Amino acid sequence: MRELLLVRYGEIFLKGLNRPFFMRALVKKIRHAVAEQGAKVWLHDGRIFVSDFQDRDECIRRITRVFGVHSVCPAVEMPKDDFEAVCRQAVAMTANWKGTFKVSARRSDKQYFMDSPQINMELGGRILESNPALRVDVKHPDSTLNVEIRDLCYLYGQVIPAVGGMPVGTNGRATLLLSGGIDSPVAGWMIAKRGVQISAVHFHSYPYTSDRAKEKVLDLARILSESCCGIRVHVIPFTKIQMEIHEKCPEEYTTLIMRRFMMRIAQRVAEKEHAEALITGESIGQVASQTMQALGTTDSVVTMPVFRPVIGFDKSEIIEVAQRIGTFETSSLPYEDCCTVFTPRHPATHPKMEKILEGEGRLDVDGLIEEALAGDEVVPC
Ligand code: ATP
Ligand code: MG
Repeated sequence: MRELLLVRYGEIFLKGLNRPFFMRALVKKIRHAVAEQGAKVWLHDGRIFVSDFQDRDECIRRITRVFGVHSVCPAVEMPKDDFEAVCRQAVAMTANWKGTFKVSARRSDKQYFMDSPQINMELGGRILESNPALRVDVKHPDSTLNVEIRDLCYLYGQVIPAVGGMPVGTNGRATLLLSGGIDSPVAGWMIAKRGVQISAVHFHSYPYTSDRAKEKVLDLARILSESCCGIRVHVIPFTKIQMEIHEKCPEEYTTLIMRRFMMRIAQRVAEKEHAEALITGESIGQVASQTMQALGTTDSVVTMPVFRPVIGFDKSEIIEVAQRIGTFETSSLPYEDCCTVFTPRHPATHPKMEKILEGEGRLDVDGLIEEALAGDEVVPC
C-alpha cells in the first residue's frame, strides 16, 4: 500500500485524436512543477499519478497551479484482490467523517469479482457499521469515498480543485505587454491558461522609473512563471522615445503616440520569440488611452492579433482575479510606471488620426524603434 496523488485533467478529454499529445504535454508540465520535490510523475491507463514526494502539501499546491489540471486527489493505492483489506482501508479513511456520505466505485477491470453497485453497498455497509453517526445520501452527500478498481485499487475522499485550462505550449505563443500594474499580469495569466506559452516585454524609463520598479515587474513575471512554465522578459529602454514624444508631439496625443511605439516594438519582440499574438491588460474606458477609438489607433500599427482578455472586466473584477492568482500584492506596490511619468493633463479620448500622424511625422520612428530594440535586456523568469 502506498500514498500517491491522482491528477485529474479537464478539457483535454475533449481532444479526441490529439489527446495523447495534450496528455504528454501535461505530464511534462507537472514534472516540471514538482521537479524540486523529487517526485515521480507517470501516465498509466489514462490517469496521471504522482508519488515519492517529500512534502505532500507543497506538491499539491504546485500541481493545482499547473494549467490543464482539473483537480488533485490524495489517494491510497493497494492490491485489489484482498477485499477485506480494501474494506479496512475504507473504514480508516472515513473514521472522522461527519454528516452524510456515499461510496462511488468505478471498475475499469470488468473481470473483478464484484460490480460497482456491489462494491458501493459492501463498503458503504462496513463504513456505517464502524461510524454509526454517518448517514448515506447518494444525491447530495457531504463527502464521497471514491474507489477505482484498475490493475490495482485506488481509494480517495478528497478532491482538491485546481486551476483548469490547457497545458502551456499546446496552443502556440504570445507576447504580453507587462507593466507593473494590476491588469496586465491578469491578462497574461488568462491567455496562458488557454495553453499559450507567454513571453513578456516591459518598457522601462530609467531614471524616471527606478530599478525597483523594474524589479517589481520581474517579480510579477516570476509569480506568473509558476503557472506559465518560464517567461522570458524583454526589458526595453524607453526613455529616449518618451523624451522625443514629449518634446515634439502635441501634448494631448503623447500617451497614444507612446502606446503606438509600445505596440510596434512589442510586435518586433514577439517575432523574435516566434509568437503569433500580443496581449495587453486594457479594459474599455478605463483610462483615456482605452476608449474604443484610442484602442483602434494603437491596433492599427500592428499586424498581429491583439488579445485583451480583461476588455470587458470592471477594475474590481480584475482585482478579484489578481488576488486569486497571487499577483495583487506585488502589483499594488507603489512604484511608478513609464505611462504615469509623462501623463498629459488632457489626453485625447476621441483621437484624430491626422494629428497622430502629424506628431509621428516629427519623429524618426524607425530609428527610435531600432535603438530601443538594440538595448533589449532579456531576463529569464
Ligand atoms: P496595468 O494595470 O497592467 O498597468 P493600466 O490600467 O495601468 O494597466 P495602462 O497603463 O494604460 O493601463 O496600460 C495599458 C496596457 O499597456 C497595460 O495593461 C499593459 O499591457 C501595457 N503597458 C503599460 N505600460 C507598460 C510598460 N511599461 N511596459 C509594458 N507594457 C505596458
Ligand atoms: Mg499601467
